[in-house]
Amino acid sequence: MYIDDKRVLVTGGAGFLGSHLCDRLIEAGHEVICADNLFTGSRRNIMHLLDNHKFEFVRHDVTFPLYVEVDQVYNMACPASPVHYQFDPVQTTKTSVHGAINMLGLAKRLKAPILQASTSEVYGDPEQHPQNEDYWGRVNPIGIRACYDEGKRCAETLFFDYHRQFGMEIKVVRIFNTYGPRMNPNDGRVVSNFIVQALKGEDITIYGDGQQTRSFCYVDDLVEAIIRMMNTPKDVTGPINIGNPDEFTIRELADLVIEMTGSSSKIISMPLPSDDPRQRRPDLGRANQQLGWAPSTKLQDGLKETIAYFDGLLRDGPAAQSA
Ligand code: NAD
Ligand code: UDP
Repeated sequence: MYIDDKRVLVTGGAGFLGSHLCDRLIEAGHEVICADNLFTGSRRNIMHLLDNHKFEFVRHDVTFPLYVEVDQVYNMACPASPVHYQFDPVQTTKTSVHGAINMLGLAKRLKAPILQASTSEVYGDPEQHPQNEDYWGRVNPIGIRACYDEGKRCAETLFFDYHRQFGMEIKVVRIFNTYGPRMNPNDGRVVSNFIVQALKGEDITIYGDGQQTRSFCYVDDLVEAIIRMMNTPKDVTGPINIGNPDEFTIRELADLVIEMTGSSSKIISMPLPSDDPRQRRPDLGRANQQLGWAPSTKLQDGLKETIAYFDGLLRDGPAAQSA
């Protein structure tokens, strides 16, 4: 379907999701330009691609314009972990908003389709469950998650305005919690935190009562869906939810990680951060219908791969983890 040797820009390509996307695009025969400022991404994630003549890494911050010639743009650049996006909230909003304006401007000049990695966070702490794409969400506009949530919401607005005003080909995917190998071990997100804590024998930190839910999607399923989305007909704009419909409490996740790692770690309770959504599960009807896609990786299978990855990383030592 997508084997026709395109030049593709992946912003945020040295991050967790972006690096897997670069792999898949290179495997399919495309040329890839990966633009990343390495804020949360790492050279380690793309090390294996650096010698490939079809791959080029450009250290670049998307809040500044970028001048390259490509056929498709995947805009993945933005820290995704609450710990990292709250570290410099002003820069987070700039990355989403100025980054979207810059990448939309680039795609407009090139008449290229552009895909936006949006997020289930646009639904905030939702009153509707599961969340479908017609739900407008419940976001606190002045809370500590707003730099990310409102930044991503504004980016969606920009994508749809560029589409309406200039006839641009846009593709917006709303990504629900996704996990897998190459997550940053210091990322702060729940799957990487619990696995690293379990492997090190440290306490497993549950925020709040652990009854809040998330639905976890394995990275390979996610990448397949976003490549399908990019290659849909022009009139398919999204937004389309991408995720996994199997919902777990955070407590259930902690128990599963302890069981699968055989760890002796204890579970401890920590304060729940403000505005932490109580429940989250995607309605995947639109993805099923418009992409012919559904996730196929069970949480246990995806966790097995992810645990093996972090186990290897921890054995390689601190230098490897920060590379
Ligand atoms: P990640 O932090 O691993 O990757 C983000 C990448 O963007 C990193 O390589 C980082 O260095 C880069 N980056 C950040 N700011 C930048 C800037 N100003 N200029 C250039 N590069 C910059 O996170 P991820 O999980 O791979 O997320 C990728 C995208 O998917 C993000 O846009 C995120 O919002 C979105 N998303 C991810 C999830 C998830 O569960 N993984 C869920 C919803 C949305
Ligand atoms: N969480 C937790 N312990 C951790 C990290 C996260 O209990 O060490 C909780 C967090 O409060 C949230 C859920 O796990 O309810 C998912 O958090 P994450 O940061 O992975 O992503 P979010 O979906 O909140 O953006």
